[in-house]
Amino acid sequence: MPITRSMQIAGDALAPDALGPTITIGEILVEIMADHRGDGFLEPIALTGPYPSGAPAIFIDQCARMGGAAGIIASVGDDDFGRINVERLRNDGADISAISVTRDYPTGSAFVRYRHDGLRDFVFNIAKSAAAQIMLDAQASALIARAGHLHVMGTAFAIPGAWDIIDHAIEVIRSRGGTVSFDPNLRKELLGEALTQQRFQRLVDTADLILPSGEELFVAAGCEGEAAAVQALFARNTHEIALKRGAQGSTFFGPGGKRVDCPAFVVEEVDPTGAGDCFGGAYVACRRLGMPAEQALLYASAAGARNVTVRGPMEGAGTRADLDAFIASTPRCIS
Ligand code: ATP
Ligand code: MG
Repeated sequence: MPITRSMQIAGDALAPDALGPTITIGEILVEIMADHRGDGFLEPIALTGPYPSGAPAIFIDQCARMGGAAGIIASVGDDDFGRINVERLRNDGADISAISVTRDYPTGSAFVRYRHDGLRDFVFNIAKSAAAQIMLDAQASALIARAGHLHVMGTAFAIPGAWDIIDHAIEVIRSRGGTVSFDPNLRKELLGEALTQQRFQRLVDTADLILPSGEELFVAAGCEGEAAAVQALFARNTHEIALKRGAQGSTFFGPGGKRVDCPAFVVEEVDPTGAGDCFGGAYVACRRLGMPAEQALLYASAAGARNVTVRGPMEGAGTRADLDAFIASTPRCIS
């Protein structure tokens, strides 16, 4: 019989770090950024990169830097774009044993340019890159078999092969008393497809912890209004919500109407990419290391805020010591 949430120690939303690493499944990419704001890539422009990237990679890097056991199932090409990512994750303490290297495809990439209005133009190479070649090979199976927590990112919805691995991982990790979190970070157009909608809702029902950003809360709950959406999610399987509010900070919602608001740190936003992933990585690591929700939320908010002060999607991911220093030295919004 699978071990259900109610069989876990009361009060612990997520399985402890000692049960095994937090794992995630999805794309590893490099990001190459335009040096200056403007529209698109229709003329030669100055670019800087490659930066290690991919939402699951950013999440797991921050999780590892925070001191949580962490691993990723992903695929890269046999090229420098792959190597820069694998080396970063290895150096930051993540388990890279389930990153497969394919000779047939280049590592995924994203070229990004910020427009003056803050929107972004992208050129992606993901669907036909190594990033889409993830599979349940022996290394991936072995990592899942020793994992204590699965974090699912909505970006995985764009990778067809990810589904079978996610389903398998949920079953195995649950059966050993592990837990699941879900960051519904996905392109809205994908939700137009009936199968994606069905899988999305199944994940909402499966996850112990949901980490939505802005409107994703309403999409996950299927209704508008913050209080109504939170109530609707708790009426399902949700045990904890960590809501991301960008420069407005973040909020924890727990059982019994518990709510904790974390006012934002006041920072200069240089590059917003990766804030939500760093927030999630730090939050999950802290909770699994036994910290109360208040402390986890503070570290997560610091991780998100620190990351936006630096160019590059995971360049600002901090260790616990980095985040302690950041918290001590950075003013917060008085709300
Ligand atoms: P992503 O673009 O990575 O998907 P997201 O929308 O999931 O991001 P955000 O809400 O942008 O997530 O960021 C996560 C957290 O990081 C916020 O809740 C906040 O605590 C912190 N944060 C992000 N941007 C800023 C900012 N400009 N100033 C202060 N804190 C920030
Ligand atoms: Mg997000």
